[in-house]
Amino acid sequence: MQPGFRYGFDPAPSYVIIRAMDQHVYWMRMALAEAEKAAALGDVPIGAIAVRDECIIGRGHNRKEHDRDPTAHAEIFALREAAQALGGWRLLGVTLYCTLEPCAMCAGAMVQARLPCLVYAAPDPKAGAGGSVMDLLQHEQLNHRVEVISGVLADEAAAQIRDFFAGLRAQGKK
Ligand SMILES: [Zn+2]
Repeated sequence: MQPGFRYGFDPAPSYVIIRAMDQHVYWMRMALAEAEKAAALGDVPIGAIAVRDECIIGRGHNRKEHDRDPTAHAEIFALREAAQALGGWRLLGVTLYCTLEPCAMCAGAMVQARLPCLVYAAPDPKAGAGGSVMDLLQHEQLNHRVEVISGVLADEAAAQIRDFFAGLRAQGKK
């Protein structure tokens, strides 16, 4: 169950799952919109949104090329903003929505933040640290485990990245 997503009665389990998925889709659309901002800067479209109590408290998009900064990932900006909003590094009750499975740096930052829950869209078979290449988010030997929900709007997120690279290739041919 989502933190901050509560009911005053006991609905059927399937109903709970549908409602929770509706929420995930809603926030993931915001993360996809955030990713568009990266594409507009010439960066690979990856976006992240931090949500607590039905409010966005952090957002970020990939700015690696634009900022010439290897750490300028969407998730890092969203985690930083969320920590600023909460007044501390411990992100209690926060769910992070990312359009792509996080890399090792970002997954490490999520563990550092004691993030309760991550929802991501598309897997990253080349660099994903949420289970694809390695699993830092649920590592037995680390002192915190992040609940992970994957595959929410995965096709849309993957298409967004594919379209971005197709656009670059088309520009290169001109
Ligand atoms: Zn990253």
